[in-house]
Amino acid sequence: MATQGLVIINTGHGKGKTTAAFGLALRAAGQGLKVCIIQFIKAQAKTGEAQALTAAFPGQIELHLAGTGFTWQQDKEVVKQAALAGWQLAREKILSDGYDLVVLDELTYLLGFGILTEAEVISLLRERPKRLHLVITGRDAAQGLMEYADLVTEMRAVKHPFQQGITAQKGIEF
Ligand code: ATP
Ligand code: MG
Repeated sequence: MATQGLVIINTGHGKGKTTAAFGLALRAAGQGLKVCIIQFIKAQAKTGEAQALTAAFPGQIELHLAGTGFTWQQDKEVVKQAALAGWQLAREKILSDGYDLVVLDELTYLLGFGILTEAEVISLLRERPKRLHLVITGRDAAQGLMEYADLVTEMRAVKHPFQQGITAQKGIEF
């Protein structure tokens, strides 16, 4: 049976978008699929997920960091250049047909910042190999992108420890 690649979007203001994408990467790797993850914007090398997945599945899960850390501390031009380099890498990885699953973590922010247009993203989705599953995460996914996708999940924040002043916990937030 031929694989039907799905476009999957995890959006919304609740917690779980990135962790769900990494959970999917884990599931895919367990089935022998080849995975490439590109993290935009807040990419950090020392997150638990980055360290665990690449150590556990060398050669099967690739992780690329195309961000500069926290955007509010950064020069806008530096953030933009890192994002554009990440987008170029995403194009190459997707069009190489070397993967079964590609995750573009926090990609929606590039549209929000005006670094990329919705049309550019949809055009790459159309060009991708038919078998490729592609996951996009981030808040406020563009309407047209959600219409194009096969699977859209919106995480809704019902309660978050941040609201009680509880700081980010190791292993839970990073
Ligand atoms: P996670 O990486 O835990 O799956 P996420 O990808 O859904 O979360 P992002 O919007 O990428 O969340 O934000 C990353 C960080 O912001 C996470 O540490 C998360 O716990 C935190 N966060 C998510 N939702 C909220 C919220 N409603 N209020 C405050 N912080 C939040
Ligand atoms: Mg996230």
